[in-house]
Amino acid sequence: DGSDEPEDAALREVWRDVLRRDPHQEFFHADVRGVLRSIGPVLLEHPEYADVVGRLCEPERVIVFRVPWVDDGGRVRVNRGFRVQFNSALGPYKGGLRFAPSVDLDVIKFLGFEQVFKNALTGQDIGGGKGGADVDPKELSTGELMRFCQSFATELASHVGAAVDVPAGDMGVGSREIGWIYGQYQRLIGYHEPGAFTGKPAVLGGSALRPEATGFGTVYFTRRMLAEQGRDLDGARVVVSGSGNVALFAMDKVVASGGTVVGCSDSRGSVSEPEGIDVDLLREVKGQRGSVADYAEKRSGAEASDGSPFTLECDVALPCATQNEIGPDEARALVDHGCWAVAEGANGPVTPKAREILREAGIGFGPGKAANSGGVAVSALEMQQNAGRERWRGEDVDERLQAIMSDAYDRVRDAAERYHGDPTDLENGANAAGFLRVAEAMTSLGVV
Ligand code: GLU
Repeated sequence: DGSDEPEDAALREVWRDVLRRDPHQEFFHADVRGVLRSIGPVLLEHPEYADVVGRLCEPERVIVFRVPWVDDGGRVRVNRGFRVQFNSALGPYKGGLRFAPSVDLDVIKFLGFEQVFKNALTGQDIGGGKGGADVDPKELSTGELMRFCQSFATELASHVGAAVDVPAGDMGVGSREIGWIYGQYQRLIGYHEPGAFTGKPAVLGGSALRPEATGFGTVYFTRRMLAEQGRDLDGARVVVSGSGNVALFAMDKVVASGGTVVGCSDSRGSVSEPEGIDVDLLREVKGQRGSVADYAEKRSGAEASDGSPFTLECDVALPCATQNEIGPDEARALVDHGCWAVAEGANGPVTPKAREILREAGIGFGPGKAANSGGVAVSALEMQQNAGRERWRGEDVDERLQAIMSDAYDRVRDAAERYHGDPTDLENGANAAGFLRVAEAMTSLGVV
């Protein structure tokens, strides 16, 4: 689509190269397009960064591999594994592993590209990468999933390491799976190297507060967004989608901040409860593989539905499930209900069209690469602890996390104001601020 082309000649050339090289990667293209749109004004001030852009949009390395495993029936199965090592200018590649049926090279490149900017915004010395496999872990028995993780790790081991590439979890991969993957890695290399993976179980050197970090960080970021509007979470009605770690810990922090979680969801449906979701009960139900509908059955004031939670009346929306949760319909409902702010706990939950609708209505928007960067930030703290053979207390990690989220907010807000003339344009601000830090590192390294 010609109308989508950047005006700037150098950026247009980069855009055409991206389309030509991988014509069918829609998620990746949309993300690159957003970044190119944001950095135009940065290049006016920093013309020396112009020749970084083409290199930035091309991953340093893409690894695609076969994952063979034997199921409980003795049948040989095969999946496809990925690790995209996108950019290492700021430090070792860093980013999660996603196990989901929707995983393909497009999704992993999109997430890896996001991760480069997100990691830069944390102020930590970590590059960006992402990986995963096109498997649905919910369909595997515990034994099958362990064997799958071991097979996946057998190939991954050749490409990662504490100073090379440090994977963590993402959707479908939690501390249990990271423990199994690390276990196989350790057998293969023949020595202990806990800093090669983060999000490990605590007993293997996992950081305190790592499970909570993404959800807590999203709420810390949201509090700064609201403060800018002269508001806060105390008394606010909040809808949080998703029922994994990110969502549940975001709900805990919303409640601790005086807010009420009036709606939630999982992949099967949503629940509205104006008096406030009982997060502990929800966690218990989900822990027993129940659904949000099962939760609603136990509560007289709760009502289950199979629609989106974002059509409920709320002041703040925190999409914490997956891509494309808030499209134009949900965005319009949020506008109609007078919602103040939307912050992305998940990666890419708000579609570009929906973002436009929110922007036009003047609703605050916290892009995932900034709002959900608390998870990877605490991963960087886990790397530090492992390197120093230390274990920090949860309170100390939390204090650092709050400082990191606050610094990230300042960085994004200041870039939004400086380059886009609007301190609340956090989407353009996040791209500009992330770009500045990566571009400076890349330029300092020479043409590599
Ligand atoms: N998967 C998380 C993210 O999207 C965390 C990555 C990490 O800790 O390396 O940022």
